[in-house]
Amino acid sequence: MVDLKGQYLKIKSEIDAALAGVIDSTAFINGPEVASFQRNLESFLDVNHAVTCGNGTDALQIAMMGLGLEPGDEVITTPFTFIATVEAIALLRLKPVFADVCRNCFNISAAAIEEAITPETRAILPVHLYGQCADMDAITRLAEQHDLLIIEDAAQALGSRYGFENGLAKKAGTIGHVGCTSFFPSKNLGCFGDGGAMFTDNPETAEKLRSITLHGSKVKYFHDMIGVNSRLDTLQAAILDVKLRYLDTWNKARAGAAGYYDAALGGIDRLRLPKRMKQSTHIFHAYTLRTDPGERDALREFLRGRDIPTMVYYPVPMHLQKAYRHYGYSEGDFPVAEELCRSVVSIPMHTELQENQLDYICSAIREYFNTQ
Ligand SMILES: *Cc1c(COP(=O)(O)O)cnc(C)c1O
Repeated sequence: MVDLKGQYLKIKSEIDAALAGVIDSTAFINGPEVASFQRNLESFLDVNHAVTCGNGTDALQIAMMGLGLEPGDEVITTPFTFIATVEAIALLRLKPVFADVCRNCFNISAAAIEEAITPETRAILPVHLYGQCADMDAITRLAEQHDLLIIEDAAQALGSRYGFENGLAKKAGTIGHVGCTSFFPSKNLGCFGDGGAMFTDNPETAEKLRSITLHGSKVKYFHDMIGVNSRLDTLQAAILDVKLRYLDTWNKARAGAAGYYDAALGGIDRLRLPKRMKQSTHIFHAYTLRTDPGERDALREFLRGRDIPTMVYYPVPMHLQKAYRHYGYSEGDFPVAEELCRSVVSIPMHTELQENQLDYICSAIREYFNTQ
């Protein structure tokens, strides 16, 4: 599904030099590379403040702590996401309220958000799934009308850009009050372990977020609020600072592979290609097809027989996960998310895909639909 080794080998000398520099300095926690990476992220995203932390799940939790959400507050989010989105809400004793997704774009539907708003709603948490932004024009409008906070989960969309109806454009993660991302190795900007970051234009929010990552302190051993211990290692920051310079090029390589898939897999009756929304660029964290629900596993099995890996992101919607049953949802509550969980399949997508590999994958998929 990914080729981290191939990517590393292409920039090995730069990465190895950056790592050697950190080891030589022994500034393993909050070394100068962390500050440097934060500044470079700010200019890459055109945002005032980037605050790094230990991972993307922490970023979501710290964002909601920093924005002052309190137990019982309702946060509207998508049932079709990675568990971290909902876990962070639940850990803070906030209440996740789900709104169904759009079948074509996989992201939370603004119409469904509107229906889910109650007097207890405090925030909307859209996830820019697979690398394409949610409907941020409508979500921003709803947030303004109902005085709600927006926390973006941009873990799969770093570098994606949303063009607003008014002509303004912003990068994913810089649109809401706080945006969150992850540097998990397989993300579009991945480190060699765990890492995460939060983004905001508001200086007070940024200071609060930073302080929460450091046990709620601004001055060492003086604690103004309850915080956590969540930092980006200097070694990881040094790696990310090198890799950030390649992110746009790598996202273009992914888009190139996606274009190849589009062309080679178009016109198959029983297969639906990922739809591009016109407001957002797509950085293809994943290239995700839809089959008829009963057919997905047979296609996966056929491809496995030809050594082609596939993945299902995600097989179970959040409202039907065992750990979250106590919120009282049941099967049928979010039919689109449930259908997607039965019908989506992602095929290899990364920065090192060669034409012969793309051709091999597409020929096998066509062969399946021609013969089965
Ligand atoms: C990866 C991911 C996260 C969590 O990131 P970690 O760094 O693994 O904690 C959160 N949300 C989404 C949508 C993700 O894909």
